[in-house]
Amino acid sequence: MSDGVRLIVFGRQGAGKGTQAFRLAERYGVPHISTGDMLRAAAAVGTEFGLQAKTFMDAGQLLPDDVMLGVIEDRLAQADAATGWLLDGFPRTPGQAEGLNSMLGENGPNLAVNLDVPETVVIDRISGRRVCTSCGAIYSVSTPPQSDWTCDKCGGSVVQRDDDTEDAVRKRLAAYNSQTAPLLEWFEERQMLVNIDGVGLPDEVADRITSAVDSRLGIAEI
Ligand code: AMP
Repeated sequence: MSDGVRLIVFGRQGAGKGTQAFRLAERYGVPHISTGDMLRAAAAVGTEFGLQAKTFMDAGQLLPDDVMLGVIEDRLAQADAATGWLLDGFPRTPGQAEGLNSMLGENGPNLAVNLDVPETVVIDRISGRRVCTSCGAIYSVSTPPQSDWTCDKCGGSVVQRDDDTEDAVRKRLAAYNSQTAPLLEWFEERQMLVNIDGVGLPDEVADRITSAVDSRLGIAEI
């Protein structure tokens, strides 16, 4: 039933995008493709590419479009993404959206979910956010893992991201407002945008998203 579910999740940093994307991907049985997680994994392994990516990430800057298009093209070519996928953190600029469009043609996304959370709320959330270095699961200082910053899902260590500092966050929000927010219009014009109020408990927001996505994609029950 989930064949052909091809979703993009948008939301400014701290909107709960990663948490909700993770849940949505599980629900529809498609790979959760987070470009941020992929870059952090490459940086942790210490490949040349990963270390270069880390300098951009720590400064709160976006990597060049052509580099990111190459990353996503390779990832979408893998077998698990053959019938559906969920993109989290990509596309992020008009150049990436155009590149994705020409890469995929009619096999492009069928829906874009925009998690809407005001900037004042996300700044508070980001300062408390903690992330598993192994699987990317997201916690916060108010909802920590059960045992001593060890991930409940995989046992990895749960830490604060290097780019969750105030200066990097300010730059990332500015990049979102100037480069990513305009992409929403592109999807809206094509009647592919679903706006979701992202303020509330994760379960409440997840319910809002799944009922909207199910109804837009004509999925009765999973
Ligand atoms: P995220 O986890 O989505 O907040 O991404 C963390 C950082 O990775 C960003 O601040 C960028 O430096 C980099 N990054 C992730 N996705 C992209 C993308 N699509 N284009 C450019 N840079 C990206």
